[in-house]
Amino acid sequence: MNPWIAKAVVLAATVVMIAIRAPHARDSRRLKVVRSHKTTLEVVVLVLAWAGFFIPLVWIASPAFSFAEYPLRPGPLVSGIVFFVIGLWLFYRSHADLGANWSVTLEVRERHRLITQGIYRRIRHPMYSALLLYGVAHVLVVPNWVAGPSNLVTFAVLFALRVRAEERMMLEQFGDEYTVYMARTKRLVPGIW
Ligand code: SAH
Repeated sequence: MNPWIAKAVVLAATVVMIAIRAPHARDSRRLKVVRSHKTTLEVVVLVLAWAGFFIPLVWIASPAFSFAEYPLRPGPLVSGIVFFVIGLWLFYRSHADLGANWSVTLEVRERHRLITQGIYRRIRHPMYSALLLYGVAHVLVVPNWVAGPSNLVTFAVLFALRVRAEERMMLEQFGDEYTVYMARTKRLVPGIW
C-alpha cells in the first residue's frame, strides 16, 4: 500500500489532537499556578515527549527516516485507525472533564478542583490512557521502525517517571479526598490497573 495513506491518517490525527487541546491550553494559561512540581526531570520528560510527538511529522515531511521504512499493510492500518479514533475520543473526554484544571506539567492552579466525575469516575489518568492508545495507533499505522514507536516509547518514559509524583502532588493538595478517590479507582484501565 502507498505510505501516503498512513501519512494522511497521522496528519489528520495530529490536527485533531491539537484542535482538542488548544482551547484548554489557552483557558488554563489564564489561571495562576499556585504550586509547581516542575523539576528538572519533569522538563527532560517533556522535551522527550515533544520529540516523540514531532518525529512522525518529520517522517511525513522528509526522507530523514527512509532507511527504516517497511511495507504498509491493510490490517495494521485499519486497526491503527480504530486506536486513533478511540484514543482521540478519550483525549477529548478527559480534556472536557478536567477543564481548566489541566496542565502540561505537574502544577496546581488557582481554584483547582479535584475531578472525580465523568471519565475520571473509574480511572485516575484517562488522558494518559488516551496517549497510550494514540502511541499504539502510531505503531500500527506508521510503517517505519523509528517514527512508528516514537510516540509510544516517549509516552512510556513520561508515564513511568511522572505518575507517582503526580499522585503524590494530588495527595498533598487534596488529602483524604484523593485517598478515597485512589481507593475506588484504577490508574489507566477500568477495573484492571
Ligand atoms: N493524569 C491526568 C491528568 C493529566 S494533566 C490524566 O491522565 O487524565 C496533569 C495535571 O492534571 C496535573 O498537573 C494535575 O494538576 C491535574 N490533575 C490530575 N488529575 C486530576 C484530577 N483528578 N482532578 C483535577 N486535576 C487533576
